[in-house]
Amino acid sequence: MMLKFVSRERETPAKKDPGARRRDFAEIYARFADDHAAAQAARCSQCGVPFCQDHCPLGNDIPDWLRLVAEGRLKDAYRVSSATNNMPEICGRICPQDRLCEGSCVIEQSGHGTVTIGAVEQYITEIAWKEGWVEPILPPVERAQSIGIIGAGPAGLAAAEELRKSGFQTQVYDRYDRAGGLLLYGIPNFKLEKDIVMRRRRRLEQSGVNFKLNFEVGRDATLSELRAKHDAVLIATGVYKARGLACPGIGNRGVIEALEYLTASNRKGLGDQVPDFDSGALNAVGKNVVVVGGGDTAMDCVRTAVRQGAKSVTCLYRRDRANMPGSAREVANAEEEGVIFEWLAAPKAVLGGLEKATGIRVARMELGETDASGRRAPREVAGADFDLAADMVIKALGFEPEDMPALFGAPELSVTTRGTVRVNPKTMETALPGVYAAGDIVRGASLVVWGIRDGRLASASISEKLTASRVVAE
Ligand SMILES: Cc1cc2nc3c(=O)[nH]c(=O)nc-3n(C[C@H](O)[C@H](O)[C@H](O)COP(=O)(O)OP(=O)(O)OC[C@H]3O[C@@H](n4cnc5c(N)ncnc54)[C@H](O)[C@@H]3O)c2cc1C
Ligand code: SF4
Repeated sequence: MMLKFVSRERETPAKKDPGARRRDFAEIYARFADDHAAAQAARCSQCGVPFCQDHCPLGNDIPDWLRLVAEGRLKDAYRVSSATNNMPEICGRICPQDRLCEGSCVIEQSGHGTVTIGAVEQYITEIAWKEGWVEPILPPVERAQSIGIIGAGPAGLAAAEELRKSGFQTQVYDRYDRAGGLLLYGIPNFKLEKDIVMRRRRRLEQSGVNFKLNFEVGRDATLSELRAKHDAVLIATGVYKARGLACPGIGNRGVIEALEYLTASNRKGLGDQVPDFDSGALNAVGKNVVVVGGGDTAMDCVRTAVRQGAKSVTCLYRRDRANMPGSAREVANAEEEGVIFEWLAAPKAVLGGLEKATGIRVARMELGETDASGRRAPREVAGADFDLAADMVIKALGFEPEDMPALFGAPELSVTTRGTVRVNPKTMETALPGVYAAGDIVRGASLVVWGIRDGRLASASISEKLTASRVVAE
């Protein structure tokens, strides 16, 4: 049944051709057909030491669910897969598998293509939704203790689900008007369609998780007020302070922040009124667009601009392709869709005037000595500047934490020199007893799968502490 990797080639689900992709925001990969998923799952070698499992932040029992899919036992596969992951269909779509599970698949190391783990994981849970196996949670016992969760991104939602399973009362606060965090307002539809996120939220509501939206901790309540109200509090607020770019002309109209741009596009997709999009300020149609940065956010911006009908889209990154932080898969997708990459290129000045950007002066870079971070530092090549036309310049240089102690009115909340919330890594508890933290606000900008992992770990610690001290069955 298994070990078919010698006779069967690796195949990923079909990808729409680039011409069709440029025309809309729909996801670009199709789903596996049933026989296809089973055939691909059967390529797994069921090795004794599953490195894929070790390299999955959730420790997913990958060989087991691959075997169950190959045997056609999909309900069992869903049971195993959902035991360790609160959003398998989301991770299956957007984890950078080449750096995680698939990157350490043993059959790849023996010269065969990796098992398509992410695509099979997505397939299992899509079937589960279709068949009605993803049911609301019915806790075996209701506990009186309540947990306040600040942030409805993947970390907060995973924690809410786990805590609800143990019967705690869960109240999720979010300053946005919808739950989902960056899953909804950051990541574009062509990677993750919004229905997929919203049906998770609906299930949590049906399970008794309460959501208080448009509620900003710091503005509408202090942390100490929430501590007084709840038996434990989880901070899962993500990182939202955009890294700046200092160069002449950076204040020119047409220079915009990546997250503002992506959020406007996602809101349009959700049918919201977005005046800054309608005015053209956050719409790339007909424009020469230059995106500065080389991470996943930059890739999402260039590919969004293509779909909005930009005249040209160029990505500037100061190191070379091999040193790019963004996923290789996304760079390849962007290139197929017509994005031009200027490697070893850094912005020097935005041209035009305050009223309108017209272009960008770019310095040509080369890689010099290895710096403290262990990477070769980029340095400018003298006399090699060049100009590009640009009416829209998008800054996508990454994100940092906001000043959490000041924002929350909690100076005693300990943070690292990077501004991330300091936790005990075994329990995710902060310096404040009963206050936990999870996701990007602990790690700095990271990945959805790590947010889920932290949310699960924090909820296990909260559960352990509260059930050890008091059990109240109602
Ligand atoms: C454009 C972009 C693309 C990405 N692509 C990928 C990808 O392909 N794959 C991947 O794995 N990861 C990707 N990531 C990273 C991933 O989205 C994050 O690592 C993940 O969402 C972090 O989860 P989180 O729950 O910690 O925070 P978030 O998802 O940021 O959620 C935090 C929530 O807290 C709320 N909040 C913040 N402050 C307050 C407050 N004071 N009061 C109330 N609520 C508050 C916010 O409104 C938000 O809803 C991407 C990120 C970006 C920006
Ligand atoms: S959660 Fe991510 S890393 Fe883990 S098996 Fe799924 S796709 Fe791979």
